[in-house]
Amino acid sequence: MNAQRPILKVLSRAFSLRCPACGKSSLIERPFHIRHHCPECRSLFKREEGFFVGAILANVITTEFIILVVCLFSLLVVGASYEKVLIGLFLVAVTFPLLFFHHSWSLWLAFDYLIESLPKYDESKRRR
Ligand SMILES: [Zn+2]
Repeated sequence: MNAQRPILKVLSRAFSLRCPACGKSSLIERPFHIRHHCPECRSLFKREEGFFVGAILANVITTEFIILVVCLFSLLVVGASYEKVLIGLFLVAVTFPLLFFHHSWSLWLAFDYLIESLPKYDESKRRR
């Protein structure tokens, strides 16, 4: 990791859904649509085919972790019945990935930025 990219600043930008490189622009074009690139610093958000798999992976892993925490908390701390816990876990499994969609992309881009930086969008290389 590069010392030019302080991890706390990049994570702060990720949690606020800002560009991990400059922090000036939002990652979100509209709900459930990530911008192609940053309008301020031109960092490319949507890279090659398959790049989105990392964002999906971040969403799946976080959702499974939340399900595990809710399950253990409900059964061991609250002492809820198993049937009620299953209903609650189903609701968490359906809603959490939708609510976490933007943040999973943001965290994936921040992780990629910390590891290897983001390439700049070059209008001249765009396919016609
Ligand atoms: Zn930017």
